[in-house]
Amino acid sequence: MKESSEVRDPEVVELLQQLIRNACVNDGTAESGHEAMNVEVIRDRIEGSGCDLEIYEPISDRVSLVARIDGSDPGAPSLCYLGHTDVVPVNSDNWSRDPFGGELVNGEVWGRGAVDMLNITASMAVAFGRLARGGFRPRGSLILAAVADEEALGTHGSAWLTEHAASAVEADYVITEEGGIPIETANGRRLPITVGEKGSCWCRLRVRGVAGHASAPLRTDNALVNAAEVIRRLFQFAVPANIHDAWRRLVGGMSFPEEIAAMLLDPDAIGELCRSLPDLGLARQAHALTHMTIAPTIVHGGAKLNIIPDKVDLDLDIRTLPGQRESDVRSLLAEAIGDMGEKVEILWTHYDPASESSVNTPLWDELDAMVRRFHPGAESIPFFSAGATDGRFFRRLGAVAYGFGMFSDRLSFAQFMSMFHGDDERVDVESLALSAEMFEALPRSFLA
Ligand SMILES: [Zn+2]
Repeated sequence: MKESSEVRDPEVVELLQQLIRNACVNDGTAESGHEAMNVEVIRDRIEGSGCDLEIYEPISDRVSLVARIDGSDPGAPSLCYLGHTDVVPVNSDNWSRDPFGGELVNGEVWGRGAVDMLNITASMAVAFGRLARGGFRPRGSLILAAVADEEALGTHGSAWLTEHAASAVEADYVITEEGGIPIETANGRRLPITVGEKGSCWCRLRVRGVAGHASAPLRTDNALVNAAEVIRRLFQFAVPANIHDAWRRLVGGMSFPEEIAAMLLDPDAIGELCRSLPDLGLARQAHALTHMTIAPTIVHGGAKLNIIPDKVDLDLDIRTLPGQRESDVRSLLAEAIGDMGEKVEILWTHYDPASESSVNTPLWDELDAMVRRFHPGAESIPFFSAGATDGRFFRRLGAVAYGFGMFSDRLSFAQFMSMFHGDDERVDVESLALSAEMFEALPRSFLA
């Protein structure tokens, strides 16, 4: 079969390919990302379609685009499509194809960002362009925000926009990543609508030692050895489980066997269940959604090969649950590190609390209707994410923010989950077409 005959919506496929090929890789530094390139591609698609369009560039090359179709009734609820244009770095050795090739192979577009979230951003932009070109005149305004820097802290993207250009992006309702990937349960298909997300507390621990000559290491106070012990303690610390409401709702919607469901909701049983569950994807999610998690990710230390290091910096990615505060993180760290604490100093933290939107909203009902329309027989379930999205900034402005897109059943939920920030990221062209179709249909009813 020729590739072209498999593609139901070539426009969204081509846009995704271009976005992938631009390789707007955000490594966390201000000099990375270069989202100006992806914004340019999106601007080309929608400019001249009759919408208003603004470009924001808080620092060089970190560009976000905000386009809007103004509603006729300023009092009517507004909707913002929020898509990021940056991607995380890759280790191309582990990929079967060029991570920035944007190749279309067997009905799948390959490349970094194919599921996180250039696919959704592309579908949103194509749908928005079609609405604008078609002269769509809603009662409530429709906004498209294609933003930089989601993959770091949103500093040059959503954090900046919601602080410095809030009136441009403010909306009553926001849709962003991640959701809509079909989950097959004992009672049928479920489509997750993400209503909330964990918080993140990124911090740096400075582990001390005493410098000395590495030719005589006995009884030296080596910061690297101390750091290893700190990591071991953090890794082995039994973080208590926390069964919160969003988790209860999620478990309730998943139709697990009764015995498993009971264990998933039992704070004394869930830890052991997660350690022994054969389904690794489920185990990780279940654990992450019921525990504050601590993952050491970066270590810097040592100055010269023959010197005993006197300091090692250890960066931790800590994720918090609803209701947990920065002080809870600090006390948990202190408890986990124990008597090594005298050698450890917390240098800095960046704290973003968990955030959540209600499920009792008109947008929920509308998305629920979309789920039934695109996947007859399926039901929506409120999902909670272990990761962070730009949705949090908009929830803080008072918006209802959900993560959602429309996906086919070609790739499983577990496959999708493993591709977020993983290797061989790809998406099927049917999912791209479904998302574009849904994002075009939604405002016609929701903003009418
Ligand atoms: Zn993302």
